[in-house]
Amino acid sequence: MAKKNKSEWVLKGIAAAPGIAQGPAFLLDHQDFIVPERTILNEEIVVEIARFDEAIMHTKLEIQNIKEKISREVGGTDAQIFDAHLLVLEDCMLIDEVKKSIRQDKICVEYAFSRILKRYIEIFEKIQDNYIKERSADVSDIGRRVLKHLMGESHLHDLDVLAGDIVVVAHDISPSDAVSMYNKKVLAFLTDIGGQTAHTAIIAKSLGVPAVLGLKDATLRISNQDEVIIDGRKGVVIVNPTEETKRLYQREKEKISKLEGLFHNIVNSPAETTDLHEVKLLANFELYGELPAVQKYGAQGIGLYRTEFFYMNRLDLPSEEEQYNAYRQIAVAMAPHPVVIRTLDLGGDKFISSIQLPKEMMPFLGSRAIRLCLEEQEIFRTQLRAILRASAHGNIMMMYPMIAGAGELRAANGILKGVKQRLRDKNIPFNEAMPVGVMIEVPAAAMTADVLAHEVDFFSIGTNDLIQYTLAVDRANEKMAHFYEPAHPAVLRLIRRTVSAAHDAGIKVSVCGEMASDPTLAAILLGLGVDSFSMSPSSIPLIKRAVRSLRYADVQDHARQALKLSTGSEVMDYMVAELKKAVPDFYMYENQNP
Ligand code: PEP
Ligand code: MG
Repeated sequence: MAKKNKSEWVLKGIAAAPGIAQGPAFLLDHQDFIVPERTILNEEIVVEIARFDEAIMHTKLEIQNIKEKISREVGGTDAQIFDAHLLVLEDCMLIDEVKKSIRQDKICVEYAFSRILKRYIEIFEKIQDNYIKERSADVSDIGRRVLKHLMGESHLHDLDVLAGDIVVVAHDISPSDAVSMYNKKVLAFLTDIGGQTAHTAIIAKSLGVPAVLGLKDATLRISNQDEVIIDGRKGVVIVNPTEETKRLYQREKEKISKLEGLFHNIVNSPAETTDLHEVKLLANFELYGELPAVQKYGAQGIGLYRTEFFYMNRLDLPSEEEQYNAYRQIAVAMAPHPVVIRTLDLGGDKFISSIQLPKEMMPFLGSRAIRLCLEEQEIFRTQLRAILRASAHGNIMMMYPMIAGAGELRAANGILKGVKQRLRDKNIPFNEAMPVGVMIEVPAAAMTADVLAHEVDFFSIGTNDLIQYTLAVDRANEKMAHFYEPAHPAVLRLIRRTVSAAHDAGIKVSVCGEMASDPTLAAILLGLGVDSFSMSPSSIPLIKRAVRSLRYADVQDHARQALKLSTGSEVMDYMVAELKKAVPDFYMYENQNP
């Protein structure tokens, strides 16, 4: 597609993380190794060849080490994945071809290697056989490691060589890449693909970085250095804005900061309806750097600690000691408020370098979350030990993700029981009464909530996944975004069923999916009887204001009526009309979430 000229134009995508940002675009193409071409002198040929041999040797050692570590901690079969990587490094044809290119073309080793590597990847990708096609990922991964040894880590990550604040434009950004942008000069993210509840969107919110995802062809249409304004509240990107547009957005930014001041007045007030029904508002937590925001916005605890982010952007697995220290630190900082630690939820759209998961056709339906932990029991036990030890400090609760029924819950609890016994045997302190809950995010769990409720201390409804699995809509696929309907009657019925089962069994139920941070949807959840809401810290003031403006008896009635409607849009239209009637300024701050 032809690039646009310098007049102002607009792209519309999925509003993934709120806020307004302005700056120059930086196109990040992770698939490409950005390696400068450098010609060399005859005398340099031997040096370049020696550098190549050395980089191959270091990469082999690095892979051997990871392989040994994984076979020690996880088991032999998982470590075999690295044999494929080692084979690539022993491929004489590839090695000879690189050396030949250095000699003949008189180019530096990095350039020779990356050029040949790209050709290999292209050939692999064109082959019809799926197994061989997938080997291109091995070749690409190995290539990245060899280049890292040749060029140094910093050259590989384009972001590290940036001078100045930038707006990252990429085809896709993985959750772990998003985390690695923490503390970098990133003003906003724009991607071609991805949905509102993809983990990349969730991380952008945690970082406080506006994000618009699912822009389809942003990487083709936006050029490096194009000036862009991102409106993360509305999912709008303005490219080459006029002076007038810039002034308009400057005023919008000022309005948002004023709002922060307004909301500040209710930081210490309870989330209580006008007829004095109180709910708790807690924070979702992914990165340690979020702690000041959790405190600033007055969260009454951490309702979802997504621990998997602690495992990302490193080659090894975090040790028990490291995890214990991290969990303890958060628990102490939040005490006496609760910290709900979710056990590892990997798979789906979250991957880490230290565990090589087999490629699956449908990763969200595959070996994910608790399923993976029940397969990789040593990794699970290490985390359970760390959580239990940390439970001796502060107010820690623990929950399992993606439980589909009592069988998995019992299997997980069986492992927990063993870990507890070993701690007791060694006189290591932990909280014997640490509450253990499950996330209700699979329809099967909601349908059997009455059974589960008798075997746990609390429920936390993960609506991001519950919607995805109930409506059969990939949460990260922007093309399906219009089918992703939180207010769909099927979703509401499952939530109602879960809440009733929890309350019948005398346990509390929370919602920690993105639904909790939308005022209209939060009003429905409130009416359905949800006891607490957990969300990105910056959403807390908006939801608190909404709760404080509503009458519990009214929203209970609205929820009852909503459950009788036939479609998600009917529910939304009905709720918006009722809320506007009951509280005329209910939507005054809509889309102004700071
Ligand atoms: C959810 O599924 O709603 C949830 C909170 O968990 P995650 O978004 O991490 O999958
Ligand atoms: Mg989930």
